[in-house]
Amino acid sequence: MADPIGLSAIILASADLGESDKIITFYTRENGKERAVAKGAKRSQKRFLNALEPFTCLSLQLAPNRNGGLARVESVDVRHSFDAIRFNTQHFMFATLACELTDKWTKEGDPCPRIFHLLLWLLHNLHGDATRSGQHAPPAKTAMIFFQIKLLQFVGYALEWSRCMVCKGLPQGGRPVYVSERGILCAACHTGSADICEACAGAVRAIQYLQEREHSEIHRLVLSAPLWTEIWTILERLHKRHISRLSPARIHTYDILRTQTTAPLNTPQQISNTAITGNRAA
Ligand SMILES: [Zn+2]
Repeated sequence: MADPIGLSAIILASADLGESDKIITFYTRENGKERAVAKGAKRSQKRFLNALEPFTCLSLQLAPNRNGGLARVESVDVRHSFDAIRFNTQHFMFATLACELTDKWTKEGDPCPRIFHLLLWLLHNLHGDATRSGQHAPPAKTAMIFFQIKLLQFVGYALEWSRCMVCKGLPQGGRPVYVSERGILCAACHTGSADICEACAGAVRAIQYLQEREHSEIHRLVLSAPLWTEIWTILERLHKRHISRLSPARIHTYDILRTQTTAPLNTPQQISNTAITGNRAA
């Protein structure tokens, strides 16, 4: 093993390895995705003291393996365990989906600090840190949509949502827009079936709005429950379509969210007190 390296990391996943070890998948600010063996993590809780739970943000000492095998977790120092997320079913599922998407979209040895900071921001939002400290923060459901839009952008799959990809016309309110994996089509230019799905002009305008903004700017956006669900469907289908080409594995959390009896997709408790304005921030 080479000298340990220090990394800022978020735990995406963990899996048992043999009798006593675990393989942990991290997303690190410095190196992007890393997978490493945590020796004794399964048998002895003492060594890592529950620090290897998903979503945990930590300072990580990793010993690279000179022979090309998996690195080894030398030590961890928890910075934020995001405990509150684990007591809210919807927030837990959102965080699980965010970690799963980050894992599926990224590969080892390809760092993207923007993805690290996006995921960290989302976890703080779901944990309620911004609200507790009196900062402006979007509702969790808006934050989760923002995460999916920005992740697509950061991995190079952002679409032009404001204009028809053929005639360059603006989407007209009241007429459907057809979403394909390469862009949107107006009703006049659209032939055949929609590649991804049909949407309303308000949904694509809201996605464009979020894509162009930083997380600190989106707290004023108000999404009605039907509009939020429509945007969610577009993003779910886009992520599934692209990821199915990168990996044969399904994105399980999307499917669980659709089948859960608590139906987080249909329970707009986060936005029930807001006016339905369509798509634009005040
Ligand atoms: Zn057109």
